[in-house]
Amino acid sequence: MKDKFDCIVVGAGPAGISAALTLVRAGLKTVVIERGEYPGTKNVMGGILYTRPLEELIPEFWKEAPLERHIIEQRVMLVSKDASTSFSYKSKQLDEPPYNSYSIMRATFDRWFASKAESAGAIIINETLVESLIVENDKVIGVRTGRADGELYADLVIDAEGVNSILARDLGLHPEIPEHNVALAVKEILALPREVIEARFNLKAEQGTAIELVGDISAGMMGIGFIYTNKESLSLGIGCLISDLRKSGMQPYDLLDRFKEHPMIQPLIEGAQTKEYSAHLIPEGGYRAIPPLCADGFLVAGDAAGLVNSVHREGSNLAITSGRLAAQTVIEAKKKNDFTCRALSLYKKLLDQSFVMKDLKKYRNFPAIMEKNKHFFTTYPSLLSDSAYEMIKVDGVPKKTKQWKIIKNFIKGRSLWGLVKDGFNLLRAIG
Ligand SMILES: Cc1cc2nc3c(=O)[nH]c(=O)nc-3n(C[C@H](O)[C@H](O)[C@H](O)COP(=O)(O)OP(=O)(O)OC[C@H]3O[C@@H](n4cnc5c(N)ncnc54)[C@H](O)[C@@H]3O)c2cc1C
Repeated sequence: MKDKFDCIVVGAGPAGISAALTLVRAGLKTVVIERGEYPGTKNVMGGILYTRPLEELIPEFWKEAPLERHIIEQRVMLVSKDASTSFSYKSKQLDEPPYNSYSIMRATFDRWFASKAESAGAIIINETLVESLIVENDKVIGVRTGRADGELYADLVIDAEGVNSILARDLGLHPEIPEHNVALAVKEILALPREVIEARFNLKAEQGTAIELVGDISAGMMGIGFIYTNKESLSLGIGCLISDLRKSGMQPYDLLDRFKEHPMIQPLIEGAQTKEYSAHLIPEGGYRAIPPLCADGFLVAGDAAGLVNSVHREGSNLAITSGRLAAQTVIEAKKKNDFTCRALSLYKKLLDQSFVMKDLKKYRNFPAIMEKNKHFFTTYPSLLSDSAYEMIKVDGVPKKTKQWKIIKNFIKGRSLWGLVKDGFNLLRAIG
């Protein structure tokens, strides 16, 4: 058998590179196969990178990694047709190293991250698509690539191919991902001079803001928008459930244009030039949609395993952590020379002990509840805006009268029973 590795990693995203780096550091012969021209070319993210999981792999990575701005403010905007109610947290703590998170560009970040695995000893093969798994006696023993003579063999394969996870599906670990468990996100990079960004978002050099938006911008669908500040650009995007998009008949780029034209958004992006446009899927099914995570000779990590916390918009940190834990499992399996799914169940145990599964479990009811209760994306942002306007408007009406008017509006908007039900559901959704 030619080209036998200890482990083949499919995909050079955060999950795959984290796995590869952990494996080669333990002395395992590892190859990463990436379909893109180089790691990051095909990858889309908002993107906020959370420091901690990467810091565990590469201490003080921020001293050399290509990063944009450290995030000092997180803002949530609840948007109605022509207003917005914002909740913002900005602090000195977030402005002190080690910073909690950074805005990044995946094309440069992934390439840098992969170079760290490569210099530690991983072989990275770019521009190569893994087309299928090689299975013998029900055990995965390698992969078949699109290249001539392109079969590679290993004791174990880590599937870190991202949201589509075609290899795991072909192996029977999960069926086709249902439309209500996946969002289609569209994103633009909008170029703006550094000083304009800093003035508009009230930032100093290197400081950044992350804004998440809910409400009118998703046109009645379950979806979230985002605006993140980079050094000399903004990352702006919106993602909605595919099932909702299909029902609405809206095209994703129409949704993005609608978002950009919103009166609360337009001033933030005025004068910006679109530099890049991209679209990507996000697994949104959460805990209940996680497939079996192993088969004999096979492990699944990152988006391929549906490990995305859609409540907190976290994915890259779950990918990095799951990649590392999958690699630790491979290292243990190699020691025992046991590659059965039973031996690999250590991976699930490690994930269960980590924040990854604990967080996903906490929000296990969130996706289904939000999908069925669109009021959280439509009625409530509008009611909040109307209430804020009512209270802020100085018109001689006593505040007590205004308070009753607001309560009546809520009851009119949702009915008393509806409000009680939504409150109960919200509590169930956020655990
Ligand atoms: C619009 C958007 C905004 C987001 N914002 C954030 C954010 O702000 N913060 C955050 O933490 N997360 C965010 N996420 C989620 C985050 O991007 C993902 O959770 C993370 O990238 C998952 O990493 P991964 O390595 O599992 O998969 P990916 O990053 O998708 O990497 C998979 C890799 O595998 C390669 N590949 C796929 N199939 C094959 C194959 N058959 N053969 C060879 N190579 C293959 C791909 O080219 C790719 O390089 C966002 C996602 C989107 C779409």
